[in-house]
Amino acid sequence: MRLPKFEYFAPRTLEAALNLLIEQGQDAHVMAGGTDVMVKMTHGRLKPRAIVALQEIEGLEGVRFDAAEGLTIGATARLAAVASHSDVLKYYPALAQAILSMANVEVRNMGTVAGNLCNAAPSADSAPPLIVMGAEVTLASLKGERRLSLDQFFTGPGFTLMEHGEIMTSIRVPVPPPRSGASYKRISARCGVDIAAVGVGATATFDGEVCKKAAVVLGAVAPIPLRAMKTEGLLLGQAWTQELIEKAGNEAAEEAKPISDIRASAQWRKNMVAVLTQRALREAQERAQNA
Ligand SMILES: Cc1cc2nc3c(=O)[nH]c(=O)nc-3n(C[C@H](O)[C@H](O)[C@H](O)COP(=O)(O)OP(=O)(O)OC[C@H]3O[C@@H](n4cnc5c(N)ncnc54)[C@H](O)[C@@H]3O)c2cc1C
Repeated sequence: MRLPKFEYFAPRTLEAALNLLIEQGQDAHVMAGGTDVMVKMTHGRLKPRAIVALQEIEGLEGVRFDAAEGLTIGATARLAAVASHSDVLKYYPALAQAILSMANVEVRNMGTVAGNLCNAAPSADSAPPLIVMGAEVTLASLKGERRLSLDQFFTGPGFTLMEHGEIMTSIRVPVPPPRSGASYKRISARCGVDIAAVGVGATATFDGEVCKKAAVVLGAVAPIPLRAMKTEGLLLGQAWTQELIEKAGNEAAEEAKPISDIRASAQWRKNMVAVLTQRALREAQERAQNA
């Protein structure tokens, strides 16, 4: 398999990249780490006339934490750099957990969180933990900037609200509230490097024993990362017992809309949603107790 011919641009400023996307038209494609783009091009699923690479653009590579603003992940920050950042490990362990469950060292050294989100695979591992933690993304275009809640970003497999001519410049995750915890659990059908067959992100905030905020997002069991609203409703306003957590796992399995494919059957995926939701909720609760 050979790469098709294409023009390659590596602009040094965001403005130059945005101009290139407009000049080169609909057949121009953005590339960050290239771990999805190159695979698709090699297999003939993507045939861009021009690639606009983001890695040389100054100022997009940072990962920083601020006690008021929270975590900001630049569009070209590598997955490995995000997962090993001391503030991510301290305040956002569910995100580190998700990234470290992805792919392998080589891919994590190349790929980016922004690329994982913009690629919009239903199995994207960084999406469930970021959605439950209330992340928003910043999209830049020649018209200016707009911010979107990640919860609203995905529209279908491979599709988002992002338009041609827009570049995601950063992802922002709010400071976790006191007495809160989050977790991400995933399973792949094969050992080793494989995308998630099911992934579950969960977060909860407690007042004493009672849950005052909860979010559960299911990956790889619907066309987009799926917010399990009924499950969240069961957990809210309750003290979490073993029985309640089991009930929530079963409810999440009911809410999941998986398909059967080469990796797993729909029924196996539903069973795994129940198990992983329970595990994620327990870990989120433990982390909240220790926060
Ligand atoms: C062997 C292997 C294993 C993998 N395992 C996993 C896994 O376990 N879990 C998982 O979730 N993924 C996995 N992936 C997929 C991939 O590595 C991730 O999705 C990665 O995070 C993509 O990041 P990237 O920077 O390489 O994206 P790229 O390939 O550069 O881009 C991906 C898409 O996003 C767009 N894009 C990228 N950055 C921006 C931006 N800033 N603004 C606008 N559009 C942008 C591109 O145009 C493209 O459509 C795997 C890939 C490989 C090759």
